[in-house]
Amino acid sequence: MGKTATGIRLFNTLTRQKEEFVPIEFGKVGMYTCGPTVYDYAHIGNFRAFVFEDLLKRWLEYRGFKVVQVMNLTDIDDKTIKGSQKQSKPLREYTDFFANAFFEDIRALKITPATIYPRATDHIPEMVKLIKALLENGYAYKSEDNSIYYAISKFPGYGKLSHIKPAELKAGARVRQDEYAKEEAQDFALWKAYTDEDGNVFWDTELGKGRPGWHIECSAMSMKYLGETFDIHCGGVDNIFPHHENEIAQSEAATGKPFVLYWMHNEHLLVEGKKMAKRLGNFYTLRDLLQKGLDPLAIRYLLLSTHYRQQFNFTFEGLEAAKGAIERLANLQRRLQDANGKTDEEKLSELTQRVQTCFGAAMDDDLNVSVALASLFDFVREINYMLDANALSHEEAQKVYQTISEFDKVLGVIPKPKEESLPPEAQILIQKREEARKAKDWKTADAAREELKAMGIILEDTAQGIRWKREKT
Ligand code: AMP
Ligand code: ZN
Repeated sequence: MGKTATGIRLFNTLTRQKEEFVPIEFGKVGMYTCGPTVYDYAHIGNFRAFVFEDLLKRWLEYRGFKVVQVMNLTDIDDKTIKGSQKQSKPLREYTDFFANAFFEDIRALKITPATIYPRATDHIPEMVKLIKALLENGYAYKSEDNSIYYAISKFPGYGKLSHIKPAELKAGARVRQDEYAKEEAQDFALWKAYTDEDGNVFWDTELGKGRPGWHIECSAMSMKYLGETFDIHCGGVDNIFPHHENEIAQSEAATGKPFVLYWMHNEHLLVEGKKMAKRLGNFYTLRDLLQKGLDPLAIRYLLLSTHYRQQFNFTFEGLEAAKGAIERLANLQRRLQDANGKTDEEKLSELTQRVQTCFGAAMDDDLNVSVALASLFDFVREINYMLDANALSHEEAQKVYQTISEFDKVLGVIPKPKEESLPPEAQILIQKREEARKAKDWKTADAAREELKAMGIILEDTAQGIRWKREKT
């Protein structure tokens, strides 16, 4: 891995093109991923973003980088305040509940944990410091109601990420809420002066009594943990404007340095052509799907198997197909355990080289997972043919098993074989049968086998010894 040639190309929203990925520090990647707003359960549209980010991180790790991933938890905004008031709970207690639910969900989806999950409410001093710097250097101003706003007209680069034209900006007009449309590009709130609607949620700081705006949270926390300039910042495309545009404006105005080198955004998960979103009511939480008995790994597969920059519709048929795909992988892994033939060396080495090259080249090409998966399933089909023809030795089959397991370190979709243990009566019967066979007492051996069968346990004599499996019901 050379300093300037990682071989990995990533699509950068900032330049709207694929670029060679060159991290600031050799072999290391600092990555910030906008996390959930913990006011409710996350829906699987949100998990499309988190699964994409997990895939990106796993791929960089596969390529040998040490990745530091920071994912914030937005635990202070209009939505969390409203939610906690509705339930008459302190804000922290209310958001703790949904933060824990989020951690349970990501475990189920095999999303590897971020290095750190900073919470906005634990970083108020860092936000205050940043806002003060912006006031001092003239990018921020106090309004009549004591809130503090960012003056977008002061920052010449405003619009460079979302590509809105400065002429469209309405200088001086202000927006207090955190989310708004491009057409409403205006000065936005860094610090919101207290109003009665905030109830008991406020901080008494040098900036007055109030609370931070959403955008400043991510600027303060990302720079605290990753430095003033870092490698990659991710989120869904809905975050490009205003959230990430505002993060750039805040951070670069405060430090005078470039904030982020590569901006990466995933497209939306849709339902019947519309973005899956809480406010449209067209969403499924992970829990909704698990309660229907659906497999979390099939959901993970479905979310990651379409290229992250393409939209796609969530359907139950899609989920069924995803389940089929991971079963094909798991079945092959099982079959490989029992291989005991003679290897066609030339064929195997050709297949292995091909899948490693194709899978790698596809993933290096801006995480082209669809092409990577297609090459993996070609390999699976060919290996199944070799197993049918008994053309794999036990030893070589183990190597194939390893090859697939390495790919699964990136994909994270193959279920672990269940480590079932046998009930003691069955263990005794297996032993009894073994002893009878050694003594060539075939009658006792067969009777033990029948008894096991009645218990739903099937024995198989393989070259590696006796194997057992449960009879399919
Ligand atoms: P939020 O909790 O709303 O801040 O969203 C968390 C992450 O999910 C952000 O990166 C959003 O851009 C992303 N997101 C929200 N809805 C969708 C969707 N339907 N498809 C893909 N990503 C989404
Ligand atoms: Zn953010």
